[in-house]
Amino acid sequence: MLNLILFGPPGAGKGTQADFLIEKFKLNHISTGNLLRRQIASGTELGLAAKSYMDKGFLVPDSIVIGMIRTKLLKNKEANGYVFDGFPRTVAQAKSLDDLLSENGMAISGMLCLEVEKKELIDRLLYRGITSGRPDDQDVSIIENRIQVYTEKTMPLKDYYKAQNKYYRVDGTGSVEKIAQRLIETISTLGT
Ligand code: AMP
Repeated sequence: MLNLILFGPPGAGKGTQADFLIEKFKLNHISTGNLLRRQIASGTELGLAAKSYMDKGFLVPDSIVIGMIRTKLLKNKEANGYVFDGFPRTVAQAKSLDDLLSENGMAISGMLCLEVEKKELIDRLLYRGITSGRPDDQDVSIIENRIQVYTEKTMPLKDYYKAQNKYYRVDGTGSVEKIAQRLIETISTLGT
């Protein structure tokens, strides 16, 4: 099984590259951001609880996110593997994911971190705000908050995966195809 974490700040290109990787390696895509937006669109209680955090650019509480992942993993047991996109975002989430995977005889193969400069991230997100209509991509102060939350709460995960020899840095700039090529080269070095 190939279980990948696509890691990086908001606007690093995780969603775009996840679409490519699931197609190439026939994997399941688990994006907590997409799952949460779906819950909001369906007007569920979970969506309502998550919305107030998402609108301000804060992380949704671990208990909500971990519960969602558990349901999703148990549903798709037949998959070739998974691309986790936007998850885990805290050390508590990473530990829960490791536990959940090992309970099911699986493990993370590698954490691929897309590196992009802050100015380019902001430009990309503002552009996506126009094309997608996502409210959290339309306001520079919310975007800056998300980048700050990433730096404080999510970046420490690099050390978590480095300690397991599963951290891989990938240049996230240039064309979508070039970045995809870099990811494939990295994935080809992973033991699955
Ligand atoms: P994304 O689509 O990954 O950029 O996520 C959009 C927003 O959803 C984030 O700013 C968070 O508020 C929330 N979110 C998504 N994934 C997570 C996660 N793993 N943990 C906590 N909050 C999350």
